[in-house]
Amino acid sequence: MKFFVRTYGCQMNVADSNEMSRHLQARGLVETQDPDDASVMLINTCTVRQHAEDRAFSEIGRLKRWKAKKSGRKVVVTGCAAERTKEYLEDRFPFLDLIVGAKSIESFEHMAEQLLDRRATDEELDYAMPAVGDKVAAFVTIMRGCNYSCTYCIVPYVRGREIYHSVERILAEVADRVREGAREITLLGQTVNSYRHGQHRFADLLGAVASSDGVDRVRFISPHPYYMSDRVIETMATVPQICESLHLPVQSGSNAMLKAMARNYTREQYVELVRKMREAMPGMSLSTDIIVGFPGETEEDFQQTLSMIEELQFDWGFIFKYSTREGTPAANFPCHPESLVEERHRRCLELVDRIAFAKRVQLVGTTQDVLVEEDNFGRTRTNHKVHINVNVAPSEVVRVRITGAQRATLEGELQNGNVTFENFRQEDSSGLICP
Ligand code: SAM
Ligand code: SF4
Repeated sequence: MKFFVRTYGCQMNVADSNEMSRHLQARGLVETQDPDDASVMLINTCTVRQHAEDRAFSEIGRLKRWKAKKSGRKVVVTGCAAERTKEYLEDRFPFLDLIVGAKSIESFEHMAEQLLDRRATDEELDYAMPAVGDKVAAFVTIMRGCNYSCTYCIVPYVRGREIYHSVERILAEVADRVREGAREITLLGQTVNSYRHGQHRFADLLGAVASSDGVDRVRFISPHPYYMSDRVIETMATVPQICESLHLPVQSGSNAMLKAMARNYTREQYVELVRKMREAMPGMSLSTDIIVGFPGETEEDFQQTLSMIEELQFDWGFIFKYSTREGTPAANFPCHPESLVEERHRRCLELVDRIAFAKRVQLVGTTQDVLVEEDNFGRTRTNHKVHINVNVAPSEVVRVRITGAQRATLEGELQNGNVTFENFRQEDSSGLICP
């Protein structure tokens, strides 16, 4: 029996899909990349913006025909949109076999067992779970939910309040991923650096994961600016396995908008934080999320976002058009016309892309340590994707001379000799022209 998974949304959803896949594999199912080959279709949905939800729902609609083509086929819908619209989904798509909201992902194992009405035999387990996986870079969820209430955001409603996994459980999961072939671990949570469990804080966890056997690189996403403490910065700067790269959502460069969004920091505080991090980690990469067209955003507010992008020179960024989410406080604020939001989105994107390209060009001529993820592709410690001129076995860390910059990737030539941990940071930073 085979299953196919389609994932919409963020890395949390990718990690949830991986977790659910492991449960299906433990029941003897095998993952396929071909929907026609599958008996179980799992659609993991996103509801952060209306567009993501619409795309998932139109795919679910098409699955009625897919299901009718072969008897015994099952359709499972999971994730944030499933949490928000369970009754609607049941009414509109009565052919669905199972709906699992984001808050219940941890019960998926039990639900899947009931749905499939079978346990794996010993032979199936051997067949379905190979000792070595193909994920060089793996995600590990350390917490679920969010205690914030940013006024635009649906996440706290569909994922609930924060729950933290224990350090022991996280380290056991890291060891599992390493056994399956991972060399890079990305810790995941909605405000990942607010992690706490007993006496342990996020910096302690970072250190523990970094010193786990077989872990060469550690990243984390999404941190919240409020919890980027001096201790976290120092840990990043001094523990060699932790990559000097951060995706730190800012949302807006206008203090009036940050206040209306209930983001508990000011532009000045964010800028100061970036200064501190760059001082501790010269050559680090910094990326961000920005929302344009938030209710009440004036041209002056928007200009402040553009000026902050210029000032901070982000390495890349995701620019989102504000999307009204029913039930959030901002849903009651008067909206801008779509055309205005579109126009600001285009202007903001142009600026972010221009700076991102210029920053990638600055890397040309430097030598980077690249962890090979597949065939000719790998990533630098600063999370830039590199196309390497020759084929290298996945999971090797190789020295690559950057020879060119494309729109989304760097081009590079393999240099002789692999790298050791000790020279990672020193060599990365000395070859880089910092802003
Ligand atoms: N927890 C993370 C944080 O606070 O930075 C981000 C989680 S959210 C799933 C990912 C991004 O989606 C946010 O950083 C924000 O830019 C964007 N986003 C969330 N709600 C949105 C909305 N209603 N409209 C547009 N973008 C939104
Ligand atoms: Fe949403 Fe804000 Fe929580 Fe991030 S911190 S998930 S944007 S409520």
